[in-house]
Amino acid sequence: MAVHEADLVVLGGGSGGYAAALRAAELGSSVVIVEKDKLGGTCLHRGCVPTKALLHAGEVADNTRDAAAVGVRATWEGVDVPALTAYREAIVAKKHKGLQGLIAARGITVVHGAGTLEQGPAVRVGDDLYRGRDVVVATGSYTRTLPGIDIGGRILGSEQALELPEIPAHVAVLGGGVIGVEFASLWRSLGADVTVIEALPTLLPADDEVIGKTLERAFRRRGIRTVLGTPVSAVTADEDRVVVRLADDAEITADALLVAVGRAPATDGLGLEAAGVGLDRGFVVVDDDLRTAADHVWAVGDIVAGPQLAHRGFQQGIQVAERIAGRRPVRVPDAHIPRVTYSSPEAASVGLTEAAARALHGDAITTYEYNLAGNAKSEILGTAGIVKVVRHVDGPVVGIHMVGDRVGELIAEGQLIVGWEAHPEDVTPFLHAHPTQSEALGEALLALAGSPLHTL
Ligand SMILES: Cc1cc2nc3c(=O)[nH]c(=O)nc-3n(C[C@H](O)[C@H](O)[C@H](O)COP(=O)(O)OP(=O)(O)OC[C@H]3O[C@@H](n4cnc5c(N)ncnc54)[C@H](O)[C@@H]3O)c2cc1C
Repeated sequence: MAVHEADLVVLGGGSGGYAAALRAAELGSSVVIVEKDKLGGTCLHRGCVPTKALLHAGEVADNTRDAAAVGVRATWEGVDVPALTAYREAIVAKKHKGLQGLIAARGITVVHGAGTLEQGPAVRVGDDLYRGRDVVVATGSYTRTLPGIDIGGRILGSEQALELPEIPAHVAVLGGGVIGVEFASLWRSLGADVTVIEALPTLLPADDEVIGKTLERAFRRRGIRTVLGTPVSAVTADEDRVVVRLADDAEITADALLVAVGRAPATDGLGLEAAGVGLDRGFVVVDDDLRTAADHVWAVGDIVAGPQLAHRGFQQGIQVAERIAGRRPVRVPDAHIPRVTYSSPEAASVGLTEAAARALHGDAITTYEYNLAGNAKSEILGTAGIVKVVRHVDGPVVGIHMVGDRVGELIAEGQLIVGWEAHPEDVTPFLHAHPTQSEALGEALLALAGSPLHTL
């Protein structure tokens, strides 16, 4: 067996793994990434980037159909799926090339192959052993399904949904979380009849209740059907259709079913437990610094329980590389990581939901909901929605929750306000440019500070 030495060996070259590699190389370490597929992982090839490219195409389709409302003549002729696919693939290919160039420029060695963890610590790939002073495990996640529902044929996971050669006329989406909501929105924009089925009572159930309710209303206006609080009891599929039976015996027939009930950590068969790494329901157990139970083995990204988001993976990767280098990076709690759902309308949030804040602080919590109807830029864009701010009475803002087209761009400010524990009074002297949607957040903060401008 050939043995290779490096300061850091990274198992998995997705968001979490490549961020750890880039930062470690920047800090002077020799780094090897072991990747069995393509650098960039789920986010770049099957997740964030291709879905957002398609959602942008959906936005163009919606704008084309609605062009007459703003006095522009345009004719909607439909979707050219091969051209749409080429557009999506070109974006991904360009970003992939850029990432490969960056990794090479930082002097990082990429080993192509499936690795397993060994004591040492080390990563084995076939007959090669890559021994590191430290190893970062970043193997990501895969589509979860429900017992009795197998992905295949007309039953799709998000990977298959991305690759569809046509837009289904009728599509059912099982799961009203982020991935389900984004595909529902996309398919509706591209002309499909869509039904979202969610076992819990609201869409985006992990978010503040106001988000799910506002989004549900917006979806209804767009003609997207939502069946909430109703679990699925059985799914059958043949060559022509999928039939979804609900717990109340109602049936939904569709051309395709997207299963979007969450993603499981990809930790099986990697030798993790034999190497001393602890697992809990498949997730790697880590301490606050992302150290596993095995000496000098760290874990980042979707295999660590918490919000499965690319930027959380980036952040964890950077933080691990800095800790290995003896630095003390600022710890950012999961609640302070911004969350965006890129549907139409978008949903964005950071910090605690009102329910979570009340569970922690009881009556010492107050909230303000600003309706985007009062915001000039939102009126111009023709979008409806809300900005809700949750604050500690006489204290800092602990949560910000928004629905409306483009609100994802506003969450960066929200993140700083919550992360820096700003009081509304700290922020209100800094007025927002007019007319922008960011004024909506400003108005909510002004109201909470007791000095409303355009509200009562
Ligand atoms: C449809 C969809 C849309 C999404 N949209 C967004 C979004 O808009 N914004 C956002 O923040 N997040 C989004 N996500 C989530 C995001 O993609 C993940 O949180 C992120 O990719 C996790 O990064 P990671 O490094 O943990 O894992 P991954 O990106 O999954 O990378 C893991 C890598 O490890 C490799 N690997 C696994 N096992 C081995 C092995 N044994 N040997 C070698 N290599 C191995 C894999 O091939 C893969 O490249 C989306 C996900 C999906 C599915």
